[in-house]
Amino acid sequence: MHLDPFELYRPSTVEEVVRLTRDLGAACDVLAGGTDLLPNYKMHINLKPNLVALEEVEELRSYTLERVGSMTRLADLDRDTDFARAYPGVAAAVHEVATPLVRERATVGGNLLVETRCFFFNQTFPWRQSLGFCLKADGDRCHVVPQKERCYATFSGDLAPALAAVDASVELAGPDGRRTIPVLDLYDPGGDGIRRHRLRPNEIVVAVSFPAASRGLPANYQKLRIRPTFDFPELGLAAAGLVESGTVRSLAIAAGGLETYPRRFDEVTRPLVGERLNETNRNAASEAIMRSVRPVHNTFLAPDYRRRMVGVYVRRALDRLANGPPGVPG
Ligand SMILES: Cc1cc2nc3c(=O)[nH]c(=O)nc-3n(C[C@H](O)[C@H](O)[C@H](O)COP(=O)(O)OP(=O)(O)OC[C@H]3O[C@@H](n4cnc5c(N)ncnc54)[C@H](O)[C@@H]3O)c2cc1C
Ligand code: SF4
Repeated sequence: MHLDPFELYRPSTVEEVVRLTRDLGAACDVLAGGTDLLPNYKMHINLKPNLVALEEVEELRSYTLERVGSMTRLADLDRDTDFARAYPGVAAAVHEVATPLVRERATVGGNLLVETRCFFFNQTFPWRQSLGFCLKADGDRCHVVPQKERCYATFSGDLAPALAAVDASVELAGPDGRRTIPVLDLYDPGGDGIRRHRLRPNEIVVAVSFPAASRGLPANYQKLRIRPTFDFPELGLAAAGLVESGTVRSLAIAAGGLETYPRRFDEVTRPLVGERLNETNRNAASEAIMRSVRPVHNTFLAPDYRRRMVGVYVRRALDRLANGPPGVPG
């Protein structure tokens, strides 16, 4: 596999990035750590002739406990014990991304916008060509759900569910200025599955910010994958909340690795707030969340197994919030 030549631009401000991407139009991608984009380029997936690198934009690298720049490397977050104390669920998710070597390059923004995955898509060009290309790149049909005209590639980033569980927001910058939205609003549940985000044209992620109430909130993250030191999530389940003397004071559960976008299950968790957590309502919540998810057969583990593991992980997550010492990663 080789990398085709491309033109590399190295702007130094957010405004320059936005201007460049607007001028280059559809013929460019932004490049953060490159740990997702460049392997896809090597497989000749959605190649662009121009790359706008974010590496030299100082503002994107700045990082505090309230606001983490999009170019913050995952390895830097992983080493930061203050960050782990402040956001234990997010820190646990960071630690679970890929390998230590990949985390040295991988960034927060790139993780939020990581390409969705499918075993008919993350393949070399000759492999995809021999089968016949698919909707997501170069073709006109889906090999997973052929009777539908949408893509079911799986959202496989670890950070989004963990960030969503603590109500984090993303700050965006584009030709019309800046705006801030909840993390989950980056993704489009009603879309065609091919376009994996709801960024406006030429918008980039500038930073992730955390509300004061999320600082020190007990939280955990559990990840199902084949090789525990390497693989993308087949399921990533994040939970955050306060359970005081058995009574739920706050609770959020979110998951990735199941469908084309990460999800939060407020319709199940909200009624538990103010209730005493017991085996009956814990099992009912886990059953309701498990029944609401719809993984398809496009990753390595069978969809039914992944669904059943959702139930197992929700029960575990609630037990940890109820019994674990506050702030200990799951
Ligand atoms: C061996 C291996 C294992 C991996 N395992 C995992 C895993 O377990 N979990 C996981 O979540 N990921 C995994 N990854 C994928 C990837 O390494 C991470 O998701 C990483 O965080 C991506 O960040 P990056 O900076 O390298 O993104 P890039 O590859 O630079 O970019 C990814 C995408 O995001 C866009 N983008 C990046 N930054 C911005 C921004 N600020 N604004 C707008 N668009 C932006 C790019 O244009 C591109 O489309 C793995 C990768 C490898 C090679
Ligand atoms: S779900 Fe279908 S369209 Fe999407 S990547 Fe897989 S085969 Fe292609």
